[in-house]
Amino acid sequence: RKCLNRIKKTQHLNAFLSVTEDLALKQAQEAEARLLQGTPKGPLDGIPFAVKDNFCTKNVKTTCASRMLRDYTPPYNATVVQKLLDHGAVLVGKTNMDEFAMGSGSTDGAFGPVRNPWSYAAPYREHAGAAPDSDWVIAGGSSGGSAAAVASFTSYLALGSDTGGSTRNPGALCGVVALKPTYGLLSRHGLIPLVNSMDVPGIMTRSVSDAAIVLGILQGLDIRDSTTVPAPSPLTELPEDFDVKNMCIGIPKEYHAPGLSEETLAQWSHVADMFERAGARVELVSLPHTQYSIVCYRVLCHAEVASNMARFDGLEYGHRSQVDSSTEAMYASTRHEGFADVVRGRILSGNYFLLKQNYQHYIVKAQKVRRLIANDFKHVFSSGVDVLLTPTTLTDAARYYDFTQEDNQTRSAQEDVFTQPVNMAGLPAVSVPTALSRRGLPIGLQLIGPALQDKKLLSVAQWIE
Ligand code: GLN
Repeated sequence: RKCLNRIKKTQHLNAFLSVTEDLALKQAQEAEARLLQGTPKGPLDGIPFAVKDNFCTKNVKTTCASRMLRDYTPPYNATVVQKLLDHGAVLVGKTNMDEFAMGSGSTDGAFGPVRNPWSYAAPYREHAGAAPDSDWVIAGGSSGGSAAAVASFTSYLALGSDTGGSTRNPGALCGVVALKPTYGLLSRHGLIPLVNSMDVPGIMTRSVSDAAIVLGILQGLDIRDSTTVPAPSPLTELPEDFDVKNMCIGIPKEYHAPGLSEETLAQWSHVADMFERAGARVELVSLPHTQYSIVCYRVLCHAEVASNMARFDGLEYGHRSQVDSSTEAMYASTRHEGFADVVRGRILSGNYFLLKQNYQHYIVKAQKVRRLIANDFKHVFSSGVDVLLTPTTLTDAARYYDFTQEDNQTRSAQEDVFTQPVNMAGLPAVSVPTALSRRGLPIGLQLIGPALQDKKLLSVAQWIE
């Protein structure tokens, strides 16, 4: 009830696209009965959670923040949602996002932008000095609604999705813990795809130890997703006394990227020093193909988008245009009415890259570059580095006004410079809030680990926290 009340009180954030009040109260009552009988289902029994609106939820609308799916109600739950429900967690609602998870600001959904809860906190208000309505900052994206939900205490955990940074970016900007697990460790069944070869369900919580509990419940093989792998170990609690002494922390020199704010850089050095003082070895390392990652991602992402969006033709799912002069005309106007600019732009460029005469030049080349990017990480980890420490975003959260004034797509792509390479390599990474900027907004740092070493990664993250 407290969470549901807070959702009402924080409606101005636009974090939720639907609130499942009746269902939540019913689930909560059942959980309470189990607790009173002394038979709880485990650590998540009765715990309220929120889900990004691109995960299918049975009998609950799933819109992907698109006019195309405005009225779509799936007949089944995504595997990760089902697992949380099976453990007694209570679904409070579906969260706002960029349309079909394309973006880095949560400013490009069909139902309005998400506002970062920190816009209304005292330190930022003092700094901004202006009326809250004209001066607020973005939540990051594309899982901005999920990050805002956790940051504003309307849920204890939230699911996001992470294809190029969409869980870690809003996690950093809203000051919550945001984990992108190893590709394949969590099932994508029921997650409406953006880029199948990079998509991973992401976990947002208030603490690293909470993220570990949720990961332990969600991880593992799913017969409905052929890319899933068995969990390397059952994961419950993280070791309390984890010691970073003698660990090797890598600092990728290419991540000193243009646009990195002084404050974020200072925070990055500060935490590196902390590691050193605790007896870890901090080493400058090189990931030389980082510079190609944004363009490479763009080609691969748009190509997969072009293919994934083909199913939205007015016949099978969601919106259908009234235009009925021919089948082709119905397709065309359905897609014109259903998708906004960003999605349509990616479909166009993706189809261009996929043309027979362009395929070798764009797709095949991008796949080769992707391999080089993945190999960069492999080399670093096989040379003895345990985890990499990097910023998550270039700066703290931008004002909505500034973010939307600039060429949004370019800005959005630059924002992902520290997060996208990780998705191309399929590695686990976590963003941890470490400080507030002078503007009173959260700054997050990212840890990246070798494939399937999610537990070790979280142990180091907990040490920072
Ligand atoms: N910003 C990236 C994009 O727009 C990543 C999005 C994501 O991770 N879903 O494609």
